[in-house]
Amino acid sequence: MTNKEMADILFPNIDKTPEDYEKMYPERNIKEGAIVSRYAPSPTGFVHMGALFASFIERKMARQTDGIFYLRIEDTDGKRSIENGVSMIIQDLSNYGITFDEGMVSETEWKGQYGPYIQSARREIYHTYIKRLVEEGLAYPCFCKEEELEEIRKKQEKNHERIGYYGKYAFYREFSKEEAISRIKKGDPYVIRLKSPGNFEKKIHFKDLIKGELELPENDLDIVILKGDGLPTYHFAHAVDDHLMRTTHVIRGDEWLSSVPIHIQLFSILGFKVPKYAHISPLMKEEDGKRRKLSKRKDPEMAVSFYHEQGIPIQAILLYLITVANSNFEAWYEQNKNASIDDFSLDFKKISSSGSLFDMEKLLNISKNYLSRLKASEVYDLALSYASQYDLKLCELLKKYKEYAIAIFNIEREQKKPRKDLSKMSEVKEQIWYMFDELFESEPLQYEWGIIDSKDEILKISSYYFENYYNPSDTKEEWFSKLKDLSEYFGYAKEVKMYKENPELYKGHVGDVSMVLRVLLTTKSMTPDLYDIMNLLGKERMESRMERFQKNV
Ligand code: GLU
Repeated sequence: MTNKEMADILFPNIDKTPEDYEKMYPERNIKEGAIVSRYAPSPTGFVHMGALFASFIERKMARQTDGIFYLRIEDTDGKRSIENGVSMIIQDLSNYGITFDEGMVSETEWKGQYGPYIQSARREIYHTYIKRLVEEGLAYPCFCKEEELEEIRKKQEKNHERIGYYGKYAFYREFSKEEAISRIKKGDPYVIRLKSPGNFEKKIHFKDLIKGELELPENDLDIVILKGDGLPTYHFAHAVDDHLMRTTHVIRGDEWLSSVPIHIQLFSILGFKVPKYAHISPLMKEEDGKRRKLSKRKDPEMAVSFYHEQGIPIQAILLYLITVANSNFEAWYEQNKNASIDDFSLDFKKISSSGSLFDMEKLLNISKNYLSRLKASEVYDLALSYASQYDLKLCELLKKYKEYAIAIFNIEREQKKPRKDLSKMSEVKEQIWYMFDELFESEPLQYEWGIIDSKDEILKISSYYFENYYNPSDTKEEWFSKLKDLSEYFGYAKEVKMYKENPELYKGHVGDVSMVLRVLLTTKSMTPDLYDIMNLLGKERMESRMERFQKNV
């Protein structure tokens, strides 16, 4: 029996050839240097920070070279698929602005000329290529059962040999074709293996765009390329797909680095051009002075939902991801404050080859800076969208008092040196609750008095102030000069300096007096600008707060 005869018996329904597919999926018409990259997850529905980081880089590289970024779903391992897994991935990524030029758009549909973009729908394509390998004597059926493979493994362990199906252990390599076919006709289960031409003693050399020049032993394992269920293994499927989808750059996590010898071998056996590789190291976390990989199991910050729940703005996360990817971004952004991430050119060479540190504190800092540069109405929109999901009471207030809320967000904002005290939307309520009577009146209050803490003195100072000084149309200067007069009237120094020079002459200073008003009105000893707060609260609210204090404490 010839190889061709065996191939025809194994794949009776395959009537296309690899050449047909070459024609169906021609080289892309893209400009020189354009990168075609892909994100190729299993449909597990789960996107973690590491995957978001990788897909961010994959997309950015395609974008900045006018290339193509596509989504391919790798579902040849049915066990890893979950219901709606594809849509969940698409949704999670699009929340972070990661969108695709081509690929799956739902569980079953795709856009683009290089589809299907889901492996389970590409069976016939894989079979066509495997049929060709069988014809060429480069692949063969193998009937090894689990128990036999286990036997081999034990033997290899005992002899201190490498584990795997290779060389003298690859029993079905030389099996008679006639016998193989008769077993297949009888219904014996089988897989198809690659007849590896590799030699483990020899090395392959390749250049990884992130890790540099690498040397790894050649693959000599007769790996399974077609499983018993008729679907290919990941290794085989991805080689065919990356070729036919005309991927130029395979950018992915470095857990795949050790498989590169298998992949390069498959590309070359199949007659495909080997793509460029860029393997991204895992994100690291610093803990007790040591670095370790961020873990899906142990670290809540690994889940993308974590950031959503905290209300860290997406733009801030993207700014952080690009900072993690290329540390020179920060200095560039400092010089180009009004530029966008899209204007920065990411460089493979500057991506850490050993693993970048993912640091929450730094992320929050970036977020703080980002938020400080937004307009009040933009912060309002972010806060509202967050509250609509996580704090309905606050959401109601933000909607009811929209203009008032925007004015609150604008305290010390739209100005040259804006205040930087907000890093995530989950902090909004604790920063502004006291501006709303609905919250102020329903809370048990904890006043953070300063050195003036006697009820009598507090009431004396504040009622005198509202009766004799407060005028809503005062400028900030007028307002402050009245606070000074008020201080003097009650025996406090008008200036901190005066007090410091002669402390025995005064009960305290103007800062202590303004603290009385601040705490009375907000309960807080630290707030944004008191003048702005008072203007927004208005006389009526302020007086009722004074009354409440008088009655309740
Ligand atoms: N499906 C593989 C994974 O789940 C993709 C590996 C690759 O990008 O080649 O990680």
